[in-house]
Amino acid sequence: MSTLEIKDLHVSIETEQGAKPILKGVSLTINTGESHAIMGPNGSGKSTLASTIAGHPRYTVDSGSITLDGEDVLEMSVDERARAGLFLAMQYPVEVPGVTMTNFLRTAKTALDGQAPSLRHWTKDVKEAMSQLRIDADFAQRNVNEGFSGGEKKRVEILQLELFKPKFAILDETDSGLDVDALKVVSEGVNREHSKGNMGTLLITHYTRILRYIKPDFVHVFVDGRIAEEGGPELADRLEEEGYDRFLVAGTATA
Ligand code: ADP
Ligand code: MG
Ligand code: MG
Repeated sequence: MSTLEIKDLHVSIETEQGAKPILKGVSLTINTGESHAIMGPNGSGKSTLASTIAGHPRYTVDSGSITLDGEDVLEMSVDERARAGLFLAMQYPVEVPGVTMTNFLRTAKTALDGQAPSLRHWTKDVKEAMSQLRIDADFAQRNVNEGFSGGEKKRVEILQLELFKPKFAILDETDSGLDVDALKVVSEGVNREHSKGNMGTLLITHYTRILRYIKPDFVHVFVDGRIAEEGGPELADRLEEEGYDRFLVAGTATA
């Protein structure tokens, strides 16, 4: 078992008016095999948390720690974090012009594992995963995310998840912009990988909808850069009925 531990994390971003604190003391422990949902209103800092774990340079860690099995994640480069087993499916996946999906996936897999995947198995794995995610075979020769629809980008993120097999998958609003069919396909992909038992999942979402398909073991309500309440799956049901209103103090966040 592996453990990703976030302790009293404070993060700020540089703005023209100076440093703006976004995360104000986040503590969260995720073990492989567990599924956690972070739910919160827009602007509460959910993407900031995801990007800080992944090592995005825009965010400054003012205090606190992130460790993976005791190793200091904050000391690692973005590449080292990926090799250590952290995977971020971004809210807004980036386009990579001039790089085909096939080349990108094989190059990334080789970098992650420190050796090239056996070609015979790899080709079969890619084909199978693409077919399960209902990604047309033509996409293999297209440039990464270039001209992909929102839903296609999310499927391709989950394709990477299934092929790279991270220890911890952080999924930032993977549900946003998906119709019900795409949401099911994407959720099935996450569940397929999660059910192998070797992955911890951190599902970040504004809406409860995806939690009908991906069942969290733990739910954390995120408000104004902090975890405001924690519980089991029943907390998501409550949020579905009540919304975030009771957590919101005027002026701190918008629903
Ligand atoms: P969420 O993902 O929960 O919607 P974010 O982490 O994206 O929240 O944003 C948290 C807060 O940080 C918001 O108030 C947002 O406006 C602010 N923020 C994020 N990125 C920037 C930026 N580059 N410049 C200024 N403010 C930012
Ligand atoms: Mg947002
Ligand atoms: Mg966000």
